Amino acid sequence: MYDYLIVGSGLFGSVCARELNRSGKKVLVLEKRDHIGGNIYTEQREGINVHKYGAHIFHTSDLEIWEYVNSFVEFNNFINSPMAMFKDKIYNLPFNMNTFYQLWGTKTPEDARAVIAKQKSLFGSVEPQNLEEQALSLVGKDIYEKLIKGYTEKQWGRPATEIPAFIIRRLPVRFTYDNNYFTDRYQGIPIGGYTALIEAILAGIKVETNTDYLADQERFNSLAKNVIYTGPIDAFFNHKFGRLEYRSLKFEHEVKDTENWQGNAVVNYTDKSVPYTRILEHKHFEKVTTPKTVITREYSTPCGEKDEPYYPINDAQNSALLEQYQQEVAAQSKVIFGGRLAEYKYYDMHQVIRSAFDTLEKLGVSR
Ligand SMILES: Cc1cc2nc3c(=O)[nH]c(=O)nc-3n(C[C@H](O)[C@H](O)[C@H](O)COP(=O)(O)OP(=O)(O)OC[C@H]3O[C@@H](n4cnc5c(N)ncnc54)[C@H](O)[C@@H]3O)c2cc1C
Repeated sequence: MYDYLIVGSGLFGSVCARELNRSGKKVLVLEKRDHIGGNIYTEQREGINVHKYGAHIFHTSDLEIWEYVNSFVEFNNFINSPMAMFKDKIYNLPFNMNTFYQLWGTKTPEDARAVIAKQKSLFGSVEPQNLEEQALSLVGKDIYEKLIKGYTEKQWGRPATEIPAFIIRRLPVRFTYDNNYFTDRYQGIPIGGYTALIEAILAGIKVETNTDYLADQERFNSLAKNVIYTGPIDAFFNHKFGRLEYRSLKFEHEVKDTENWQGNAVVNYTDKSVPYTRILEHKHFEKVTTPKTVITREYSTPCGEKDEPYYPINDAQNSALLEQYQQEVAAQSKVIFGGRLAEYKYYDMHQVIRSAFDTLEKLGVSR
């Protein structure tokens, strides 16, 4: 008999398993996939750690979380400085003085501010009714048309005029020559990849991969006093109120017979006519020297029943559906729900760890 059965070996499940085990509880982790780590899983190809489910960059301003992950493996000093490709021209992201120079040749903050102010003023007077109008009123035509429109439309699978305005509340523009995408105090990639991190977190803990909890829920429940469930909330209840909607992703991995293919870890393709949203070149996350390289084209797609759910669509309809499921959750005494799928919430990695810490605290587990 286990004290806790943990469904899912992503960050949420793994952190819970580690801390419960450390506090003397007997835990068993079940994982549906053939590997641990959930979406942060990395796999070795050509001597390079490939981010199998998309680029993952750890960033946080929370020192406790940073020290926690670094207590398992060492992190490198990777700084995320993505580039954008639009019609064969390359631009720096996030929008900063380098981007403005590439767009307009402006060299001073004053000149760049003047261009943006002029472009914004053409759209600022009416209340934005959709994402396109919102973006135009925040940053003007050039940044919107070259760097936002195509990328966003591919991500959402809809014209920007049919995406609600609230999706973009702010579009930060920086009047410094600073290409560091994140503003957090700490940032990096685990040396040896995220799988090394998860392996270290789960060291000494029993994990059964290729095991779907929902396929034999009653039997699995009988193995433990408590269950921590990190799978999709609607699947737990057999979708009885309907399916929560997600956007999915398709990844096309390719080995290139060259040492350095695009010169950067992440390049966004902001032109609508290019079918993918970005290309990753994994070796740049850990600055490894190998004769070949591995790239991944990332496509944003609708999420069918058989597809992996990645990004929740938190619109009014899905929020109402979620509320129905949450009422059912409240009636479950043995099962605790947590993580991005069980909460139907986009979490960054540091946030999901914090959320696991909060859950552990409620269970009386001190770290
Ligand atoms: C494309 C992409 C890029 C991202 N980039 C970043 C980034 O750069 N920085 C950052 O901080 N965060 C990033 N994130 C977010 C990060 O992936 C999440 O914060 C984190 O993976 C969430 O962990 P989790 O444990 O909640 O979920 P998951 O990693 O999804 O783990 C849930 C696990 O449960 C398993 N499971 C589900 N149902 C069952 C079942 N019935 N039986 C057994 N097992 C089951 C699943 O197989 C999965 O392994 C990104 C996310 C995506 C999609």
